[in-house]
Amino acid sequence: VEAAEAVDKWVKGTCRFCGTGCGVYVGVKGGKAVAMKGNPDAKTNFGFLCVKGFLAYKCMYHPDRLKAPMIRQKDGKFKEVSWDTALDYVTDKFKYLRQTYGKDAVAYYGSGQCTTEETYTFNKLFKGGFRSNMVEGNPRLCMASAVAGYISTYGSDEPVGSYADIEKSKCLFITGSNTSECHPVLFRRIMRHKLTNPDVKIIVCEPRKTSTTKIADLWLPCDPGTDLAVFNAMIKYILDNDLYDEKFVAQNARITNGKEVKTIAEYKEFLKDFTLEKVEKLTRCPAENIKKAAEWFANSPATMSLWCMGLNQRVKGVWANNLVHNLHLLTGQICRPGAEPFSLTGQPNACGGVRETGALSHLLPGTKPVANDGWRAHVEKCWGVEPGTIDPKPGFHTMKMFDALGGEADASKPIKAMLVSTTNPAQSLPNLHKYIKGMQDSFLVVLDIFPTRTTQLADVILPAAFIYEKGGIYGCSERRSQLTEKAVEPVGQAKPDLWIAAQIAKRMGMEKLIPWNGNDSMKANEMAWDDYREIIKDTDHTLAGATYSRLKKEKAGLQWPIPSLDHPGTERRYVRGSDPMFNHEGFKAKFGITFDPARKINFYNDAKKEGKANIFMRPFAGAAEVPDADYPFYLTTGRVIEQWHTGTMTMRIPEIARAHSHAYLEIHPEDAKKAGITSGDMVEVASKRGKCVMPAHIVSGTLPGVLFVPWHDQAFVRMINFVCNDAVDDTSFEPEFKIAAVKIKKVSGP
Ligand code: SF4
Repeated sequence: VEAAEAVDKWVKGTCRFCGTGCGVYVGVKGGKAVAMKGNPDAKTNFGFLCVKGFLAYKCMYHPDRLKAPMIRQKDGKFKEVSWDTALDYVTDKFKYLRQTYGKDAVAYYGSGQCTTEETYTFNKLFKGGFRSNMVEGNPRLCMASAVAGYISTYGSDEPVGSYADIEKSKCLFITGSNTSECHPVLFRRIMRHKLTNPDVKIIVCEPRKTSTTKIADLWLPCDPGTDLAVFNAMIKYILDNDLYDEKFVAQNARITNGKEVKTIAEYKEFLKDFTLEKVEKLTRCPAENIKKAAEWFANSPATMSLWCMGLNQRVKGVWANNLVHNLHLLTGQICRPGAEPFSLTGQPNACGGVRETGALSHLLPGTKPVANDGWRAHVEKCWGVEPGTIDPKPGFHTMKMFDALGGEADASKPIKAMLVSTTNPAQSLPNLHKYIKGMQDSFLVVLDIFPTRTTQLADVILPAAFIYEKGGIYGCSERRSQLTEKAVEPVGQAKPDLWIAAQIAKRMGMEKLIPWNGNDSMKANEMAWDDYREIIKDTDHTLAGATYSRLKKEKAGLQWPIPSLDHPGTERRYVRGSDPMFNHEGFKAKFGITFDPARKINFYNDAKKEGKANIFMRPFAGAAEVPDADYPFYLTTGRVIEQWHTGTMTMRIPEIARAHSHAYLEIHPEDAKKAGITSGDMVEVASKRGKCVMPAHIVSGTLPGVLFVPWHDQAFVRMINFVCNDAVDDTSFEPEFKIAAVKIKKVSGP
């Protein structure tokens, strides 16, 4: 309150941390950010913030901030240099490596923490300028399975409805998400809804007893990786007991094995082995709980599902996503207020940036594949590049890209350089031992605000501006684009990523591609935003009505599709009367989608022009690695409320750095007793890939045999990603961070 009264001005923005997209105001005094408060008009958070958002400004002036470009010298030490020297060095090296090893020798690895304008710009520079699809981003590690789930089911990425459905739901099915710690402001909305409406049912499917399961009316505890069987058992129970909406399914969905359309009877036959009893044996989830969950899900007036990395970071993440969509489609719990499947995201701009601007190796802006001839030609025309410039062949997905990264002496590694922006792969990749050498040996350029495990491996470090030092747009989990104004000048010589991209483009002779090269960051942001909007103006993701001047005035941002300046944005998609695409001539004409005027719902998954969603019959498949005699425990990982990602920012906020600063091993009392472990003992956790040592934290309630470790700790000895599995989903290529088989050993007392 003191700070609130003392500031010179409050500047509108968005929180820098999770994908909830809380609206904030940054308090500025004497040219410095000195306070933050929630934006009461923001429809994401209505003025509330969690501790991370409230204190985000505090990391901006931490003494560790990178303030000048640096080049590694022959003795291994970094030396500060001018921007010209650093950028000349980087581009000369990029030119040489591309000439020597081909156009794909230089890769870009971005982040769901860059603004939309930045992600779009680097995507354009690499795909349209470097002519390389070696463009990836860390959302591959967190949301790729959700993307593939939405696209395969409905024909278009991202959620059907909005956060506002939370307050309209009568049953909330939370699965693979510790919402309480990972999305605390949304969890506050859930708790408030439950407290004011005691008849609302909350079901949580999750192996651990967490602060989220504590508010559940029904907990479905199951072994990691077995939830596909639980979902199939729920579906079988719903079908066998006529709890499905036959009319809704007939009108709006097609049951399929991926090749042929199937009947309900054939789906029942497919599911015949998923009896409650058999699934209880397989999963450890009580049959009675599965039955009750199926009944509540189907019979509720409005059921909303919420899920996050627990479903996505899996070798069968796409199937898990498909099965949740199936539950909604079969019961008609979709496209109505309070009834929808909704995936949560972990980063502030994974949706708006990497996902929507197509900054992955197989995509182009508008989330359409590089392999799509018509779309490629359209993007080339918009970018003003020669036809045939964009490579129709996808680049490598993240794990393959890092596996292909290496030094010039290593002929087996085709990628020789990487530009990493605003992410920390040397701590955040799974099975880290396998990938660190490639980062070490290659020519690594890192843009960031703080020293990280990745900058330690870099050849060049470029100091980046913080979001409140440059402004830009973030798109949160509910398709909402929100504009952050520049509040203060960057510290030291730090620069916005857009300026850095433009300077690289200029030195590479590609300045026509990136003309937003001035020092006015908001002007550059607007030019990049307009360039991007032009490409997608006639798609279902259209932002045609979301100009910079409008977003500056909108206190709560806007949800796409937004086809015109007078359109209010779209709270619920696919429903006649609310979805602007039903009446958008440009979209219909360009993409040949014909909406049937008689139909209330038209999904975009419309190769057959039926407007129907796919209900994929998915069998059970467990984790890539399950416990055995040598590695008898399941390990799962996640976040704690105070820390975020690899802790590079939150560990530099004094008030929260103290909270859970170290990783710990959460272990069931029975397992601890058998291993002779008491709380505080140092325990070694080892998988086939690596090991860590950390103190034990004995917690009752969680399933015996299941261990948990948070992943934000930067100490090598406690970095759990050395242990985690890098096996990937064969559709989304997202790695299975969430499940590994491990053994434990007490190494010393407290
Ligand atoms: Fe920021 Fe997420 Fe906390 Fe909101 S819930 S204040 S977006 S970290």
